[in-house]
Amino acid sequence: MTTVLAVANQKGGVAKTTTVASLGAALSAIGQRVLVVDLDPQGCLTFSLGHNPDRLERSVNEVLAGDLDAADAILSTGDGMDLLPATIDLAGAEALLLMRPGREFALKRALSPLLGNYDVVIIDCPPSLGVLTLNGLTAAQSVLVPLQCETLAHRGVGQLLRTVREVQAITNPDLVLLGALPTLYDARTTHSRDVLADVSDRYSLPVLAPPIPRTVKFAEASASGATVLAGRKNKGADAYRDLAANLVKHWAGSEIVTFVPDPT
Ligand code: ADP
Ligand code: MG
Repeated sequence: MTTVLAVANQKGGVAKTTTVASLGAALSAIGQRVLVVDLDPQGCLTFSLGHNPDRLERSVNEVLAGDLDAADAILSTGDGMDLLPATIDLAGAEALLLMRPGREFALKRALSPLLGNYDVVIIDCPPSLGVLTLNGLTAAQSVLVPLQCETLAHRGVGQLLRTVREVQAITNPDLVLLGALPTLYDARTTHSRDVLADVSDRYSLPVLAPPIPRTVKFAEASASGATVLAGRKNKGADAYRDLAANLVKHWAGSEIVTFVPDPT
């Protein structure tokens, strides 16, 4: 059985793309067959995995438009996973999609012939709650919400959860909200912990373990065209390895491990 996971938050800069790339690489390193899907017209995932979106002839745009089989747009990456890339033309594809019947189902339909080739498919949603994110949530079995542990992190979470509930009601009744993943976490201050406790209480949202620490390695990695897992040992890569292990056990039937901060 293939697991399809959407990574969504309409806020930009919360580490959605970093999470898709690093978690994908970590899953791939433990033998999972992984496909990552770039649904953001900015193409940051595509770029960070070593492909220049400006030079691609085939991408998820043509696939969503129904002009190309997904299999014919897939690229391999240095981190062992496959990539369905995006280019800036995806912004136009979004407008075209809006005029089509069944527009929320375009990605689900495109991915279905491929599912047998992969253990895990991870979808990088754009920073909006538009039709592309609806396609990601409709194609997925579960959704993970990266949450940057800073003041006002909760702004927009209510709206995102409302969208998830609407998708559950209308296009994807089986969608499971896995929980929030704390990102850019600073364990040395109480601030990150307070923010998490606040968001988790307010929305009764599970907080997944482990939190991903803030480290400069991520910026260095995305500039190099490989993920943090490819570089020297570092705590960011270790955190994503632990998250991958947590999710694989969960998909095999265990309770998901949630994060309980140390009391101060
Ligand atoms: P999003 O996809 O949600 O917009 P990105 O994954 O592109 O967010 O991350 C935004 C920025 O934060 C990038 O420059 C990325 O390198 C950086 N970043 C992500 N995770 C971390 C982290 N744990 N520590 C430090 N910087 C990070
Ligand atoms: Mg992104």
